[in-house]
Amino acid sequence: MDFKDYITVIEDFPEEGIRFKDITTMMQNGPVYREAIDNMVEFAGKHDVDVIVGPEARGFVVGCPVAYAMEKAFVPIRKEGKLPRETITEDYGLEYGEASLSIHTDAIKPGQRVLITDDLLATGGTVRATVQLVEKLGGVVAGLAFFIELSYLDARNNKDLNDYSIYSLVTFD
Ligand code: 5GP
Repeated sequence: MDFKDYITVIEDFPEEGIRFKDITTMMQNGPVYREAIDNMVEFAGKHDVDVIVGPEARGFVVGCPVAYAMEKAFVPIRKEGKLPRETITEDYGLEYGEASLSIHTDAIKPGQRVLITDDLLATGGTVRATVQLVEKLGGVVAGLAFFIELSYLDARNNKDLNDYSIYSLVTFD
């Protein structure tokens, strides 16, 4: 199965010059969405994972069904101010400006092995901030799994990410 056939590339969205990869067309096809998740579960199965962590919102679309299939916990990472209990927060740079992501401080126990999921790996800023949050709580990042990787940005070879096991279903170059 070529998952790429089910991903739609939208020119100039959300702004001019961006070629947005739309995963909703893949999710509209139940068997294809399920097979995509099954591939993630297979990757996770090789890494002895205790907890699945995903940043809002599309990290939930990947991580929640993986957690369900593996009967593991799912921990949401959200924009600052959205989680109701005690949190820690990590700031990270965007193309224009800054953003902050938070996690509940009791969400991960020291030593737990964590799979981080998101729909797409671009510069790696989002996943780096997520890794920081997990590690600050004492979690061990067992792997990073994405539907899509923009290989021309080469985030997997970034000095902060190249020690981790990274899986993607589809690469765009
Ligand atoms: P990064 O932080 O690696 O530069 O960007 C990845 C984050 O931005 C992910 O959370 C992802 O959801 C979002 N993102 C960036 N570009 C795209 C895109 O073309 N398609 C989708 N679906 N998400 C994107």
